[in-house]
Amino acid sequence: AKSSGRNTYQFYARRMNEQVTERLLLESHLRQALENNELELVYQPQFAIKSRRLVGCEALLRWNHPEHGRIPPDRFIPVAEDTGLIVGIGRWVLNEACRQLARWRDSGLPCIPVAVNVSARQLARHDFIEDVEHALRENGLEGSLLELEVTESTLMEDPDMAAGQLARIKEMGVRLSVDDFGTGYSSLAYLKRFAPDTIKIDRSFVCDLPDDSEDAAIVSAIIHLAEALGMDTLAEGVETEAQRQFLGSLRCQLLQGYLMGRPQSAQEMGDLLASRKTV
Ligand code: C2E
Ligand code: CA
Ligand code: CA
Ligand code: CA
Repeated sequence: AKSSGRNTYQFYARRMNEQVTERLLLESHLRQALENNELELVYQPQFAIKSRRLVGCEALLRWNHPEHGRIPPDRFIPVAEDTGLIVGIGRWVLNEACRQLARWRDSGLPCIPVAVNVSARQLARHDFIEDVEHALRENGLEGSLLELEVTESTLMEDPDMAAGQLARIKEMGVRLSVDDFGTGYSSLAYLKRFAPDTIKIDRSFVCDLPDDSEDAAIVSAIIHLAEALGMDTLAEGVETEAQRQFLGSLRCQLLQGYLMGRPQSAQEMGDLLASRKTV
């Protein structure tokens, strides 16, 4: 038993080592990703549930590594956050999303707001406000064409800091949405304080609709709360017609998910804008 215990330990030690090595490798590659132009944004369409019109899109980061292929954001964003690399990467995302909006506009396409994900480390920086101002000004965009997506946990990490930063962001007309709503430590008092334009209902509450009665109760409560506070609700991860109908019956306003459209290249999103598609 003793020797098997030691073997188990060695096994875990080796596994740990592999994980550490993998992470270090990822980190060193990530440092070069920006310079080497390996980052790309894809855009997922957002639709109004009633009119079925395309009303916005979310910019989602992709890393195309020359040897390892496409590395999903869930694997590299945590590393970028831990190492602080997210600050430079996040600035690039903000600028690139605004540049892309300007490209669509300049080729005569209708303007819809683009939503950009913002990490806690970015929001906490003093120069974050200037970064946002710069990205808008450089591309001749009104603030209302930009939406920042901030998770509950980011807001709750340092609520005073977040409230200060977001108040300045709002003065520019930039929109705010609370991402992954319901998964973190949500406080209703803070919802009032941050006064987001939109609440994004997390996919985990949407995926088992309409059959799961608990999820149905939670989603219904979120929508009623948002309605009473004058905020819009967007349901994430909508994959089935039954989910869409159910969310419509609860008066959810906005939908995003594979049923309506996957994250797609800037070119494909441009085609979608040109077709002024309804779903
Ligand atoms: P998120 O902000 O909650 O983004 C939504 C994720 O759900 C995206 O995954 C999207 O592709 C996926 N999704 C959308 N519709 C559906 C659906 O109908 N079904 C299913 N199963 N999934 C759906 P993605 O692109 O892999 O991004 C994962 C996470 O990485 C994001 O979650 C966000 O937290 C983070 N992320 C992505 N881009 C950025 C970025 O530029 N900056 C920061 N800080 N985080 C980012
Ligand atoms: Ca998001
Ligand atoms: Ca989300
Ligand atoms: Ca998420």
